[in-house]
Amino acid sequence: MSKKYNAYDNFLTVLDKAAKAVGMPEEEYLVIRYPERELKVSVPVRMDDGSVRVFEGYRVQHSTSRGPCKGGIRYHEDVNIDEVKALAAWMSFKCAVAGIPYGGAKGGIKVDPSTLSKGELERLTRRYTAMILPIIGPEKDIPAPDVGTNAQVMDWIMDTYSMMNGYTIPGVVTGKDLEVGGSLGRPDATGRGVMIITMEVLDKFKLAPEDVSVAVQGFGNVGSVAARLLHEKGCRIVAVSDVSGGIRKESGLDIPAVLAHTKNGRLIKDYDEDGAEHIDNKQLLTTKCDILIPAALENQITEEVAENLNCRLVIEAANGPTTAQADAVLERRGIYLLPDILTNAGGVVVSYCEWVQNLQSLTWDENEVNALLFKVMTRALEDVYHKARDYKISYRLAAYAVAVERICKAKAKRGIFP
Ligand code: GLU
Repeated sequence: MSKKYNAYDNFLTVLDKAAKAVGMPEEEYLVIRYPERELKVSVPVRMDDGSVRVFEGYRVQHSTSRGPCKGGIRYHEDVNIDEVKALAAWMSFKCAVAGIPYGGAKGGIKVDPSTLSKGELERLTRRYTAMILPIIGPEKDIPAPDVGTNAQVMDWIMDTYSMMNGYTIPGVVTGKDLEVGGSLGRPDATGRGVMIITMEVLDKFKLAPEDVSVAVQGFGNVGSVAARLLHEKGCRIVAVSDVSGGIRKESGLDIPAVLAHTKNGRLIKDYDEDGAEHIDNKQLLTTKCDILIPAALENQITEEVAENLNCRLVIEAANGPTTAQADAVLERRGIYLLPDILTNAGGVVVSYCEWVQNLQSLTWDENEVNALLFKVMTRALEDVYHKARDYKISYRLAAYAVAVERICKAKAKRGIFP
């Protein structure tokens, strides 16, 4: 019987395994088994009907060893402290694998944002920002979008922080709209990073995009962009899904048509195409394809799902979609997996571009941003690839090993204060 999933326990299990695999004793990485700081806030909001509701919010800062903390803010009804702790730790590891000078953090509010009016969402965001204000800032901790938040929410965070300081401080948050200091290329960045890794891996396996079929779970900002860009590269996207369910077509879906359908918030369950069949989310994960891209939430590929996967390669676009137990099943079954902290780093890499532009009051063109993204993603893949080869370990353990070594080296140089 597998015990109840705990995202932070999952992180620790993989961390311990990776450290062991590269011969790093626990005392060398003990400190990063713990988040540096955890803040819980109770966020009161005046609702449109005049009543007051109080929402549970968090900001967890996992590590500052390699630079200021960086990481998104999630609005979702399942947000809990262990999830936010894990997401924060994954950010430290992701930034280390990408080699960008940040530690990791994550925030979250336990709320289903689709149940709030725009005014309620704005008041919730501004009050939450005020409550985490002492620990965020362009040199301290820089939030960004995640599941359930978007550029508008980031704009409100920037404005609230700026108003409370008396002047405009765009570098406090990334993923903003262009008009208020956002970066070209940021909206597509995570999906583009997934596409870059996928193309590089196909190249390593000597496969042409036309030869592979892809299934994507989750059609939000990450999954839909990854599907679009891979489709443009010539891959056959045989299945996609959102919360409402999925659709499958062996000869390949018309992705521009799916995107046109979902653009105004319409669901995939209401999409139809000749020759396509409706499937549920579970069927999507186990559908026959070459590459499976989970781009929704954590804890999707469990041990049981892993036994039934019908793909050759998993490319994680979500954070934490595969459990540590499922990893073992994939290894046994010979299914390769490219891990989240490598493959979905595109978002934070372009967040880094945005932050650098904000600090210097510069604006880069989109080619410049995309070129840097390509360079960082391919370099990170090479680092992970070599580590996996040198130690004969999975790409997951290799990515963790690269990250833990980089974080611990920085830590060792700095020493422990006092
Ligand atoms: N929320 C995204 C992630 O999980 C982006 C974080 C950022 O840009 O800081 O990587």
